Amino acid sequence: MSFFEALEPEFGSFVMGNAPVKQLATGFDWTEGPVWFGDANCLLFSDIPNNRILRWTPGVGISTYRQPSNYANGHTRDRQGRLVSCEHGARRVTRTELDGSITVIADQYKGKRLNSPNDVVVKSDGTIWFSDPHYGIMTNYEGFKGAQELPCNVYRVDPANGVIEAVATDFNCPNGLAFSPDESRLYIADTGRMFGADAQHIRVFHSDSAGKLSGGKTFHVIQLGCADGFRLDTQGNVWSSAADGVHCINPDGVLLGKILVPELVSNVCFGGRAKHQLFITATTSLYAVTLNREGAVLP
Ligand code: MG
Repeated sequence: MSFFEALEPEFGSFVMGNAPVKQLATGFDWTEGPVWFGDANCLLFSDIPNNRILRWTPGVGISTYRQPSNYANGHTRDRQGRLVSCEHGARRVTRTELDGSITVIADQYKGKRLNSPNDVVVKSDGTIWFSDPHYGIMTNYEGFKGAQELPCNVYRVDPANGVIEAVATDFNCPNGLAFSPDESRLYIADTGRMFGADAQHIRVFHSDSAGKLSGGKTFHVIQLGCADGFRLDTQGNVWSSAADGVHCINPDGVLLGKILVPELVSNVCFGGRAKHQLFITATTSLYAVTLNREGAVLP
């Protein structure tokens, strides 16, 4: 059996035929939010319904990083290496300081509570960008059922002054988001309203140095599943979650190939010694595969 499916010839050089898609750990309910800590040689990820953030350490395995986690979902690191987290349960985005204390980055917009921040990315200028769909407040499964006070927007926060701005307001439910390596593009997935039948796709925006977005056309429609989460490699290829695994999409929006995973994938991140391992959170398990590609930024 092969772990890979090439749809364009170049995908053959992105993967190594003898590198397995390895299940590192299992027994979770819905894994999400992988983030690599090279300095600590570990991966953190969320097990959302079980209200915990877990740590996977090579050669050691799984341990608990934080429980309860306020039903944390997506994570990233800022340019100082600090953990930035989306918390469904507390309806906020937080930063974990180096001494372990928690700083609230955003929990409201124009006096109204956020919905349930889902995924987050930090630009090189330090601004924090996150999606705020309603998934975490629609049921009690991944947080607390509650009233929706705001549309499902994408926000940018400048942690230097705390100013929060809605930068994309025409989504059904924004979800995964990531910048291109040169930060001229911001990709944002729309995964559609819960219990709805909205179109599911990744859109691409032009992002200028002042933090303004323009454009926003459909970049790629995921066939089978949705782009819950994705990361980019140094060449600008998008590695996205899908129902049958991880899809590799080039900067022109063309699906080049797939990494086949036996569970529904939620998100991915690059890590490992050369940023050449792709960690994959997929429903009940954590997987990893070594690629012949490197992650675009420090994950
Ligand atoms: Mg997500």
